[in-house]
Amino acid sequence: MKKERGSRVVIIGAGLVGSTFAYSLMMNGIASEIIMLDVNEARLKGEVMDLNHGLSFVKPVMVRAGTYEDCLDADVIVITAGANQKPGESRLDLLTRNAAIFKSILDQINTVGTEAILLVASNPVDIMTYVTYKLSGFSSHRVIGSGTVLDSARFRYLISAHCKVDPSNVHAYIIGEHGDSEVPVWSLANIAGLRFNEYCPVCGGNCGEFPKDQIYQEVKNAAAQIIQGKGATYYAIGLALVQIVESILRDEYSVLTVSTLLTGEYGINDLYLSLPCIVSRHGIEKQVRLDLSPEELAGLKHSAATLQEFKAGLKIE
Ligand code: NAD
Repeated sequence: MKKERGSRVVIIGAGLVGSTFAYSLMMNGIASEIIMLDVNEARLKGEVMDLNHGLSFVKPVMVRAGTYEDCLDADVIVITAGANQKPGESRLDLLTRNAAIFKSILDQINTVGTEAILLVASNPVDIMTYVTYKLSGFSSHRVIGSGTVLDSARFRYLISAHCKVDPSNVHAYIIGEHGDSEVPVWSLANIAGLRFNEYCPVCGGNCGEFPKDQIYQEVKNAAAQIIQGKGATYYAIGLALVQIVESILRDEYSVLTVSTLLTGEYGINDLYLSLPCIVSRHGIEKQVRLDLSPEELAGLKHSAATLQEFKAGLKIE
């Protein structure tokens, strides 16, 4: 169906992440059309009905179930579809199944054709974004992974809770893989423009040694801890996706640690992983080159090697 006005966001995968993202986007008010697709028609119908019943409480927006034809006029297509790990299934087997799902999705998008930006959230997000880049044939600036936007938000929250400041005043990034090998960039982290070796004496909070390792471990283990408690994570990733989509739709040029294609930067080639990037209407405008400490650079290269190994096991047609 042709877009009537404003901004159209298509969400492929109306599961927990896709529908929480749709809800957050609906509350945010930046999209005029939110169109959802899922192979599970009953679930899709239920999610769309539930969201529509909230429309009288938010700014005008159309929410409906759609088809791949709707991708033609989309501004952003967000892929949150994925299979769940079966008992005894290896990570690589799951990845192979998810790659097959992505192939069917991208074949259908390509049949219709679109100028949209593709944003991937499905895990393992760096590899799935690479798969999307390869199978879509799009230029890399139009293929973005949610990457470590969520991990950076967790990092900023934990630092803010320790330092008792607003998380929006903490500037700190997690880069590399969205996963176990992710890298905290402590050397550039700051509050009010002050790095931690400068901020702590000024703060005078008397909290002893700054608990860097504890904070990093909490960031890294957050998803596992949440999944243990409630089965899945979806609120914060829903909001992280809204922030990325908002930067695209409103041409904001926000700096976000999205997953992006590296073509030789930091000595890493032909791999998607997260670095701070400027995100605009065109997708990724550019990467922001960081002056990393030797340990952080080694961590980033280790993260790349981990992903490269994983990628090598996957056949992409
Ligand atoms: P979920 O099982 O609730 O939803 C997945 C949905 O995908 C299901 O509704 C399923 O029917 C649908 N689907 C499967 N194949 C499809 C296809 N071919 N076309 C359309 N839809 C299809 O899972 P979830 O909790 O919503 O998680 C979705 C993905 O997001 C997972 O890969 C998860 O690991 C990932 N995730 C990523 C982050 C992040 O930070 N990037 C955070 C949380 C979850």
